[in-house]
Amino acid sequence: MKYECHGHIIADGISYAESMARHKNGVDEAYVRTALKTAAASGIGFYRDGGDKYMVSAYAKKIAGEYGLDYRTPIYISHKKGYYGGMYGRSFENMADYNALVREAKTLGADFIKITVTGMLDFADEGKIMGPVFAFGELKEAVKIAEGEGFAVMAHVNGAAHIKEALEAGVKSIEHGYWPDSTVIDYFLQTNAVWVPTCAPVYNLINAGRYQQTVMQKIHDAQKTVLQQAYTRGVLIASGSDCGACLVKQGTGTLDECAILDGMAIDPERGNKAIERIFKCHLAE
Ligand SMILES: [Zn+2]
Repeated sequence: MKYECHGHIIADGISYAESMARHKNGVDEAYVRTALKTAAASGIGFYRDGGDKYMVSAYAKKIAGEYGLDYRTPIYISHKKGYYGGMYGRSFENMADYNALVREAKTLGADFIKITVTGMLDFADEGKIMGPVFAFGELKEAVKIAEGEGFAVMAHVNGAAHIKEALEAGVKSIEHGYWPDSTVIDYFLQTNAVWVPTCAPVYNLINAGRYQQTVMQKIHDAQKTVLQQAYTRGVLIASGSDCGACLVKQGTGTLDECAILDGMAIDPERGNKAIERIFKCHLAE
């Protein structure tokens, strides 16, 4: 069985704009059914969604059992207004708003809370981390609030310093984690947090002709080096492709991620206890 530990069922891996338009005026149920069928046909038995803004993953969770899928979702990403997260989430301006978002996610059937700590990478500008960064104090508070409601927190975060801050704040899983360095490893080991590196979106763009090949290769290599060290030292690494992202299709994207990790001699299923931990990641401890 394949594990997809970070996907966005709302998106098709071809066009973000078309993907959003498809569900803007209500979930396109036929589309979701086809996507789940595709996932199941690829051998996926577990799908951990990264959330969306149109209740698509919430619907997917409701019907996923029909396709033999164990489906988990934060419903949407909670992000501070003006910070990254608008693609797949809802924004808050202060901690009272955030608290309300957490409670709403709970009402809507969330399995965990997802927040964004940093932006994505600007592939057109050397892979620079975009946007403002969620401050450490607020991050700690955000984790505490979520845990108070019984949720663990997964964090979209890039950059070594920010990865370490997120782990220090009590985040249970690091999503993406591009531009790490070897100093993050001890933080992972001390916190027992899981790293879901989502290598496919960068890897699949290396030779796609869309961005400078050398830039994409550099981002990938930097992550690969630290991932391999981390794996050797026992960090929990889970396979999640970010399927739905550009050039990462539902089903095949998951297989891409497995192949990329395999190429790094990382076996997230047998080599460590990441999956077991991912399940525990749904509940604050
Ligand atoms: Zn994602």
